Amino acid sequence: MNTAISSQDQERWQRVKERLRAEVGEDIFSSWFARMELEGAASDTVRFSVPTKFLKSWILSHYAERVLACWQAEDPIICKIDLSVRSAVIRQVATPSANTEPACQNRSVGDVHDMRGATVPALAAHEALGGSPLDPRLNFDSFVVGRSNTLAHAAARQVAIARRGDPVMFNPLYIHAGVGLGKTHLLQAITWAGNTLSDRKVLYLTAERFIYIFVSALRTHNALALKDSLRGIDVLVIDDLQFLQGKQTHAEFSHTLNSLIDAGRQVVIAADHPPTEIESLDERVRSRLAGGLVVEMGSLGEELRLEILNARVNAARHHHPGFDVPAPVLTYIAKSVTHNGRDLEGALNRLLACSKLTGQPITMDLAEREMRDLIRPGDHKRVRIEDIQRIVARHYNVSRGDLLSARRTANVVRPRQIAMYLAKTMTLRSLPEIGRRFGGRDHTTVLHAVRKIEHLVGNDQSLADEIDSLKRQLQQE
Ligand code: ADP
Ligand code: MG
Repeated sequence: MNTAISSQDQERWQRVKERLRAEVGEDIFSSWFARMELEGAASDTVRFSVPTKFLKSWILSHYAERVLACWQAEDPIICKIDLSVRSAVIRQVATPSANTEPACQNRSVGDVHDMRGATVPALAAHEALGGSPLDPRLNFDSFVVGRSNTLAHAAARQVAIARRGDPVMFNPLYIHAGVGLGKTHLLQAITWAGNTLSDRKVLYLTAERFIYIFVSALRTHNALALKDSLRGIDVLVIDDLQFLQGKQTHAEFSHTLNSLIDAGRQVVIAADHPPTEIESLDERVRSRLAGGLVVEMGSLGEELRLEILNARVNAARHHHPGFDVPAPVLTYIAKSVTHNGRDLEGALNRLLACSKLTGQPITMDLAEREMRDLIRPGDHKRVRIEDIQRIVARHYNVSRGDLLSARRTANVVRPRQIAMYLAKTMTLRSLPEIGRRFGGRDHTTVLHAVRKIEHLVGNDQSLADEIDSLKRQLQQE
């Protein structure tokens, strides 16, 4: 880091980062600010740098005021911020002792690499082409492998460690899963690992970013240059393919996909559905995608959730040594916050904020209070009982009338119980109200159904998965 910065400013910067982290949450913080560095503060201006243009424009348009406010809280004289894009080469000369600097502990592999800089910076290709920002925490070390993601993980690893010229085993690799189940995590892990451990150049783009880059290239008549540079990529990673929009972008995507695959380059894609269910794709792309390896990642089981939580707490302790979450609280969160990995992270962020801001120890009471709305994701989405009945009926191939009827045959009883269970867990309706909406049943019948399904879910993984998938459908409606 710049030696011209006073130690007072360095200390300020540490505190400002803490403030920012507390305000925006760990997730946003590490996506946007982890690689921002202080360059100096003089008269009324504080100067920072970031490694890419994209980060610069994003931070300026979304967080400039917040950064300024956080700095002003430490030093009210400052009234302007200045953000520049640092060049890896200049930093390298200016920072001979960079790796003895304490802030380096938290650096990502890629960063350490370009600070030491003996070779071409690991992520140079990714950054030169305006790759989407990478979150340094989303790497293979922090990815927990369990029943639902073993295959996806193994395939991703394989792609990440392959070297240039190795035979391509499956192309494209297509990973699909619902929200928050680890797609982005795995794709970014491939990007980090590929760029640092292997000799390949890996470019990670969200579909939105792909559109953006492509459209700006068209606008500046640079589409050919763009194609040329994409040709220099060994692995193209595209996240959230379902967001690809526009006829022209689809055509361009199709073209890029074909030429990369034909040239023996690896393509990795993630989306929320299998290729056959993404309507906007053109037929050629669909069949090309289906010709590679298509892997689904299922919902996170309770055991996996607990492991992820444990790993997260350990990681958070690096920044917040006093952060202590008793084991029973973690078990409770793993049991009750079932929806996805993002909610798990949200749950921990909340506990972390409580513990930092109030200094209270984390107890079961506090956790229960804080988790309330995460446990009922239905509160946010306002899932309706009619939707539950419709989706459950469709899934089990019975009619909605059957669910409300008095029929007691097994093929109707179980779906009815599941629908009542979902109504109880995904909406705020009371038991009597749910009973009324299910053909005027008594609240004890509803309670019985809820208990029954809870019990079954605890013992029957395939039912648990089925219910998770119903929940997902309801959430995505
Ligand atoms: P997606 O892209 O599928 O919506 P993400 O990759 O963004 O999901 O995951 C959401 C959150 O859950 C992230 O914080 C991620 O690190 C975490 N997560 C998901 N799966 C795992 C896993 N297997 N191991 C560790 N963390 C995970
Ligand atoms: Mg994602």
